[in-house]
Amino acid sequence: MVETDAVVIGAGPVGLFQVFQLGLQDIRAHLIDALPHPGGQCAELYPDKPIYDIAGLPVCTGSELTKRLLQQIAPFATPMHLGQQVQSLQRQPDGRLLLSTTAGRQWLTRAVFLAAGVGAFVPRKVAVPGLDAFEAGPHPQVRYFGVDAATLSGQHAVIMGGEDAALETALQLLRSQHCASVTLLHRSDRFKAEAALEQAAREAIGQGALRFVVGQPLALESTPGPQGPRLQALRLATPDTPEGQTQPLPVDVLLPRLGLSPQLGPIAEWGLAMERKQIVVDTARFATSEAGIFAVGDVCTYPGKRKLIVCGFHEATLAAFAAAELIHPERRVLLQYTTTSPRLHALLGVASPARG
Ligand SMILES: Cc1cc2nc3c(=O)[nH]c(=O)nc-3n(C[C@H](O)[C@H](O)[C@H](O)COP(=O)(O)OP(=O)(O)OC[C@H]3O[C@@H](n4cnc5c(N)ncnc54)[C@H](O)[C@@H]3O)c2cc1C
Repeated sequence: MVETDAVVIGAGPVGLFQVFQLGLQDIRAHLIDALPHPGGQCAELYPDKPIYDIAGLPVCTGSELTKRLLQQIAPFATPMHLGQQVQSLQRQPDGRLLLSTTAGRQWLTRAVFLAAGVGAFVPRKVAVPGLDAFEAGPHPQVRYFGVDAATLSGQHAVIMGGEDAALETALQLLRSQHCASVTLLHRSDRFKAEAALEQAAREAIGQGALRFVVGQPLALESTPGPQGPRLQALRLATPDTPEGQTQPLPVDVLLPRLGLSPQLGPIAEWGLAMERKQIVVDTARFATSEAGIFAVGDVCTYPGKRKLIVCGFHEATLAAFAAAELIHPERRVLLQYTTTSPRLHALLGVASPARG
């Protein structure tokens, strides 16, 4: 279990800036996100689209903003725990908060910052009974996130889905030439992807490099192995199989890319005052109804709330000032400028300009 002063839940733009503002208050935070990468909606929903309303940045894409925010928090060397969803939050007898994630990790902290946006982005699952048993272990056969093609050498890979992520993964595996075969499995022969991607995928299918199967997996076949059962095939209902029957699709590794859906999930059950699936905060401290728990960004609500990144940046700034009073009660929390404060320069690891 990790003991710390602060945990930020959500590595979207607001969670990242929260870490920065906490750093300026000399509060080191741990950052947790369900996604395998930082950036929240910016990285997941519009990485290549332009944003025009970030103060001082006339235009930048979602991924560029994420990159810049990561650069900004670099001085604080924040431990990031990605690919895990915070599931429980419990008050301890000493007043601290105990957090646990789906990866079985735990943190004991004095303050929690909910920067959870519209919820944890979790992959849409394949509805085949028993398939989740193949997601675990050192060499999982079912992988919902990312993949290093080099680890799939000689394997028969099946990618599921008909959107950008599925087509991109299929083409990436083809290019790497590590797999014994690459199959794209989709419930229909219509894709919902960018034109260039679709064209590349259709060309690969036409050339026979990418195998394309229309079908719906209903069941699986597995065999016992020395390290537990091994997935051998999916049983598919296809347009050609008679009603009530299925045909096998051999698979060594299954990469479902069916999209992500945000789930507020457990946060809604932590007893915080909420209004329409958002957490109620005060606008001076961005404190929730529970002591030591703050909420910022899209997840919070108050009169006049606008779900904009710049609004989240303001919220994170005031929440950090409030947390400083809680975590360092012995210190006077003063407003200092990053331009002129030697203390802030020391925290940021930059040189103070010589006095003239
Ligand atoms: C298409 C589109 C275009 C947009 N364009 C603009 C724009 O031009 N300007 C602008 O200001 N805003 C824009 N927005 C809105 C902006 O993206 C959001 O206001 C912003 O992303 C909110 O940031 P956030 O950090 O609060 O939440 P998010 O970006 O949603 O990040 C929240 C993170 O928390 C994680 N999380 C949630 N719950 C948990 C949990 N229990 N455990 C672990 N992790 C968890 C999620 O996985 C996610 O990564 C746009 C939004 C969309 C969809």
